Amino acid sequence: MATTDPASNFAPWPDRLRRAAIILIAAALGLAAAVAFGGLSAPHAGLVFVVVAGAALVPWHLRAAVPAADESVGARPAETPVVEALIGGMPDAAVLLDRAGRVLHFNAPAAELAPALRRNELALFALRTPEIVAALREAIATRDPQRASYVDRAPVERWMELIVTPLELPAAFGGSEYCILMTFHDHTALRRVEEMRADFVANASHELRTPLAALSGFIETLQGPARDDPRARERFLGIMQAQATRMARLIDDLLSLSRVELSAHVRPDRVIDLVPLVRQVVDGLEPLARERQVAVEMALPPAPVMVTGDAEELLRLFENLIGNGLKYGASGGRVIVSLTEAAAADGAGEACFAVRDFGPGIAPEHLPRLTERFYRADAGDSRAQGGTGLGLSLVKHILNRHRGRLQIESVFGQGATFTACLPAAKAAAPE
Ligand code: ADP
Repeated sequence: MATTDPASNFAPWPDRLRRAAIILIAAALGLAAAVAFGGLSAPHAGLVFVVVAGAALVPWHLRAAVPAADESVGARPAETPVVEALIGGMPDAAVLLDRAGRVLHFNAPAAELAPALRRNELALFALRTPEIVAALREAIATRDPQRASYVDRAPVERWMELIVTPLELPAAFGGSEYCILMTFHDHTALRRVEEMRADFVANASHELRTPLAALSGFIETLQGPARDDPRARERFLGIMQAQATRMARLIDDLLSLSRVELSAHVRPDRVIDLVPLVRQVVDGLEPLARERQVAVEMALPPAPVMVTGDAEELLRLFENLIGNGLKYGASGGRVIVSLTEAAAADGAGEACFAVRDFGPGIAPEHLPRLTERFYRADAGDSRAQGGTGLGLSLVKHILNRHRGRLQIESVFGQGATFTACLPAAKAAAPE
């Protein structure tokens, strides 16, 4: 069916007749004018009209005699500026090839991905990754869509997916052209998230399994060799209690992290005064400070320091930062907790809470990674202090939710300062 078959060498019948009719009407009008003005006799005009009519119709019949070779008919659709603009405008890397795999068009992301790509050259010259070569060969041979995943290692490692889609583009005057569209999709971000999730599960199970193994070991010892040894029993029960507390703390931190992450997109809406919150946390940590023999100095302003925030989350934040100063900076014997109001870079007000300790400080290579989950500068020390490796990660998430920021400054051997800044509240009255 010539009118419906897109692969036909001819335009649909209505189109052909329309074009022939336009030519015939134009010829009839011209000849009528020539006869009217006496330039041509009516029989001659009739003869000319027959010749023009033949010329208008004959090409279509000549086309019928041409074998069905796609490219021989009409302009090559894949090479039109429209197709070039479409490929150029695609957000992912895209390359359009002819049926033999020669490059017709490619866009800027594709040029970045494969700088050796050249128009009118075989794509396989520029794309030599075995997965790409196999997918392209298969698509050319079978005309079936293909997918391939591969890792692009230079200049940075990227996980890519290639989709090869065979296309049949209809030509302007009938017929069609077969070509191949290659699109490249960067799945690196997804892959990283997946790796992080797997790492997180592995880390969390490892952290839980360690105290659990210790507990089982001591239970076995208490049931066996230490059954009748009251002094050993007392000591082991103490260790078991510490391990159980550590497990509980880990689960608490994991739950807090997931709660903060769940509400990350909802900004807190209560206006609160930070001064009493800081006092409350310092009071609560007094037993720890006494145990570690650390003097806590407070430098708090006399007036309220108002922010829009979630009091529970900010308590956790202060607890973590002051607690770390007491645990890791104990050797300095002194921790300064301060709260100040300052103007932020954009002119808005900011409330900055800082904890300065005089302990061993943190080596510079650890600083950028301290807020990663389970990251510890000194794993042994952290575990000995009952740390979970989640505290600073929680601090970072709480600050993100409050649109705040964390600054860590430390000179190895000279203590550390952790500063959490929060945007000041615009409203005045505290809740
Ligand atoms: P943890 O539960 O181990 O304390 P955090 O996320 O709170 O986990 O801290 C991560 C690591 O950062 C700690 O294990 C410790 O090595 C280091 N750290 C945090 N605060 C300090 C500090 N004030 N001085 C030195 N090291 C610190």
